[in-house]
Amino acid sequence: MIYFIGAGPGAADLITVRGKELLEKADLIIYAGSLVNPALLQYAKPGCKIMNSAVMTLEEVIAAMVPAAQRGELVVRLHTGDPSVYGAHREQMDMLNSYNLDYEIVPGVSSFCAAAAALKAEYTLPDVSQSVIITRMEGRTGVPPKQKIVDYAKHHATMVIFLSAGMLEKLQKELMAGGYKADEPAAIVYKASWPDQRVFRCTVGTIAETAAKNNIHNLALITVGGFLGSAYERSELYNPTFETGFRKADASKLQVKPETKETE
Ligand code: SAH
Repeated sequence: MIYFIGAGPGAADLITVRGKELLEKADLIIYAGSLVNPALLQYAKPGCKIMNSAVMTLEEVIAAMVPAAQRGELVVRLHTGDPSVYGAHREQMDMLNSYNLDYEIVPGVSSFCAAAAALKAEYTLPDVSQSVIITRMEGRTGVPPKQKIVDYAKHHATMVIFLSAGMLEKLQKELMAGGYKADEPAAIVYKASWPDQRVFRCTVGTIAETAAKNNIHNLALITVGGFLGSAYERSELYNPTFETGFRKADASKLQVKPETKETE
């Protein structure tokens, strides 16, 4: 069996229990060496073969997996974060299909979740944003029409921008061309959940400058939006005036506002 496993965002204890148990049993682990924390490889059993996919092509990865799986070995393909987000595991699965080999996917904690944790933030605040746009700047991998930063910026929803730390001047220009003002809140999260995690709160107009000043050129997420500000509405779900299938409404229990709330 072949398992595509989400390694989580970095910290070795942020892999799922299922993922860790499979790593412990694996006969072959192919890990994405550019981003997966090598500390995770300590879970491998003695004698497990370990390969770094950062120096391999898709064809070489498949050529390593197939004979091992055909011999009945347990193969783990370890991707950073969750494989479904810029993981390039679809093409691997499609190639494995042609060998009639079975595989399963074990999800992981994506770095965009670890970034929210680092920021102590909620992406989906009532009255601020009820959507999260996960996107990237166009790089060597193109971006289809209508899916550019400038298009998404128009929505003013929470944005989490991957794979773009090397082009931040361009990113902030595109955000502003889409309607963001220079003083709207943004944040850079470098190596979320790793021991050397760093968080920089800035504004849309100072993203590039903040990154340059702090020597951030990769391994970072850029987040943008009002969720980084202080104004929002409290949730209806936990509002005493709101009845749910699980509890009755009781307006007498309503406190005016959470302490952190500021109205504009
Ligand atoms: N599948 C991964 C993303 C892989 S794309 C996931 O779910 O997180 C690689 C990009 O993800 C990096 O360029 C960076 O933008 C981001 N990234 C991955 N891990 C990160 C981390 N711990 N902190 C900040 N950004 C991270």
